[in-house]
Order: sequence, then structure tokens, then C-alpha cells
Amino acid sequence: MGVGVMMTGVAGSENVASAGKPLNRDGSATWTLEAVLGLFDLPFADLIFRAQQVYRKHFDANSVQLSTLLSVKTGGCPEDCGYCPQAARFHTGVENEQLMSTDEVVSLARAAKERGATRFCMGAAWRSPKQRDLEKVSDMVREVKSLGLETCATLGMLQDGQAGQLKSAGLDYYNHNIDTGADYYGEIISTRTQQDRYETLSRVRAAGIHVCCGGIVGMGESRRTRAELIARLATMDPYPESVPINNLVQVEGTPLHGVEKLDPFEFVRTIASARISMPRAMVRLSAGREQMSDETQALCFLAGANSIFYGDKLLTTGNPQAESDRQLFDRLGIAPMAVEDLPGN
Ligand code: SF4
Repeated sequence: MGVGVMMTGVAGSENVASAGKPLNRDGSATWTLEAVLGLFDLPFADLIFRAQQVYRKHFDANSVQLSTLLSVKTGGCPEDCGYCPQAARFHTGVENEQLMSTDEVVSLARAAKERGATRFCMGAAWRSPKQRDLEKVSDMVREVKSLGLETCATLGMLQDGQAGQLKSAGLDYYNHNIDTGADYYGEIISTRTQQDRYETLSRVRAAGIHVCCGGIVGMGESRRTRAELIARLATMDPYPESVPINNLVQVEGTPLHGVEKLDPFEFVRTIASARISMPRAMVRLSAGREQMSDETQALCFLAGANSIFYGDKLLTTGNPQAESDRQLFDRLGIAPMAVEDLPGN
């Protein structure tokens, strides 16, 4: 997909189609900012009911996909994302680690698979991968894929040709978030624009890699900004196959440490709005899950979240232990999604 096409779908809300319910190329309805805001403003029970209706039309509502995220290169990032403990300029105590060896990554991927993960995501704290690093990550992708796992990578901005290289290695998903609404983006990051992000997403799409793209809430943004984030994701044409919704994990030393915490119900509303506006996407309950009560997580599943990061450490912040996840699944009657049940398989 060309950047121009991408931007038609994600430009400012005034440009998002609003009349006559036009459809995206994949047959999904386009969503205006006002329409998504209308979802957020619904009485809670009505919003959950709508989310459940949409969810059950497209998925087994008692099945959740398990992904494992591994930081293959940690810390020392030159970017200034205000939420991130890996930015070199913030003093957060994260220790820099060089790119892991392929052997190490493969043995951790094998362990993740044994614990039930179906997708293995490899994250590296780079602005953009250097060619020699991309070759190493491509080897990792090739090996992890050969274990029968879906592969995902998040490596920063990609230049021309890099997405194609990852695709050739067997990469299924590339994660690159737009983070927040356009009006708030400049408050959070100054070292790259949201347009830079759309351009990477466009390269990923053009290479035939599935898009994993979402954002972070609880960064002090307004409900309108949250709705704009969802509207922008939902009006990508097509919308991302995978939509991680993160709740800010506040880390001391980052600029966003100390920001007012988001009401858990508002987080659940964000999940429900994502589910309704992106019916066939895997909506992932991502960072911030460890800080949530079991009850809030249950509400997120009820609202249509059907994917979690599971088991291993979530980049550099903690993630609930696999065993407590299993117990929660048992209490809720949720089954882990098998690889063959994943959309597209
Ligand atoms: S979010 Fe990614 S790009 Fe931003 S500072 Fe952290 S590692 Fe770097």
C-alpha cells in the first residue's frame, strides 16, 4: 500500500469519511472520530453488550491467543518516547543489553511454545535497524518460524527494502504503534513524527506482512484523544490484523511517571471500542496487565480482548506469571487459542 493511500485512511478526523457509511477495501465500515467517541460515551453495559455482539460474530468469545514478547536488544535507544524506560536519555535503571544470539532466542522461543504461546514477538530498542542487525534478526525469524510459531518483530522504523527482507525470512507480523491521537502525539515523542510511523506501516503492508499496530492509554490524554487513536486505527485500510492496547506502566525516570492513572473502566471502554470498530482484529491486552486486578482483566475479555502477552517478561516491565494466567483462564472458562484456530490459518 502506498503512503498516500494509507494517509487517506488515517488523516485528521475531518478527513475521515463520515457520510453514507463508506466501506474500506476489506468491507469494514469506516469510523469517524465522532462515531468512536459515541461508543466511549455509551452507558457501560450498552457498550459491553455491543462489543460482545460484534465479538461473538467473528470469534469464539471464550478463547484467547497467547503471545510471548522477548526483548532481543534492550535499552540505549536514541528516541525520546516519554513512556519508555529504554530511552537512553531517561535514567530508569534499565541495563543496556546487546543483541541476543540466535541460539538464545530460539531456546526461549521453544520454551514459550511449550508453555502454550502461539506467537513469538522479538523486540529491539532501535530507532531503526542497521542492515547488519536486520540480517541477524532475519536469522532469528527464520529459526523461530521453523518451530511452528507465528513470528512478530518490533524493531523501530523500517527503510525501503527492510520489510521485504523480513518477509522473506518468514515474518508474519510487524509491530509498530501509532501510540496516541495526533493532537497529543507531540506531547509524548519529539524524535519522530506520526507520519514517520505511517510510512513504516505502509512499507510493512506493501511487503505483505500483517500489521500489528495499536497505542497506549493512561498517558494523561483525554477521552477524545483515546477515541481518535481508535478511529485512526479503525480507518486504516485495511485496519491492523492485530491491535495491542497498552495501559501505561509508569516507570520512575520517564517523563510520564506520576501522570494521573486511568480509570480501569475507561481502559475497558477503549478495548470495547477497538473490538466494535475493528471486528476481526486480534485485540491484545498488552502492557499494564500486571497492574490490573483479575476483575479488570475479566472485563477486558468481556469487552472483546482476545490476545495477551503471556509468560515471559514484557520487554523490560513485568508480566504476570504464566501460572496465574492459567488460573485466571480456568476461573473464567477461557481456553488458549490453538495455532490452527488463529485467523488466517
Ligand atoms: S518505545 Fe521504542 S523507539 Fe521509543 S524509546 Fe522505547 S525502545 Fe526507543
